[in-house]
Amino acid sequence: MSVVCGRYDAAFTLDDPDALVGAALSCPACLDATTRLAVGMRRNRLDARCTCLACGSTWSLSLAPQQALRLSLDPPRSADVHFSAQLPPALMPLDLDDLDA
Ligand SMILES: [Zn+2]
Repeated sequence: MSVVCGRYDAAFTLDDPDALVGAALSCPACLDATTRLAVGMRRNRLDARCTCLACGSTWSLSLAPQQALRLSLDPPRSADVHFSAQLPPALMPLDLDDLDA
């Protein structure tokens, strides 16, 4: 059975170390850091739908643009971060193949 844990403001900054970002993304129910995030725009706000891979709880995080940028440039190893195609291009993860062209 999964638990729905509501909505939170993400609590990390652009230059926080991995451990802090991972902790900010961890499950509010069981505190496990192995989570899956789907980042996208919803009602003109940046938002991450989160699922805990340990206990199945789901919750939402409100993200500031700098926080989404941090997740796209350097996601913490514990979290599985995905981005939707609706994001502004500046916030999309870099495609390394483009650098060779
Ligand atoms: Zn959990």
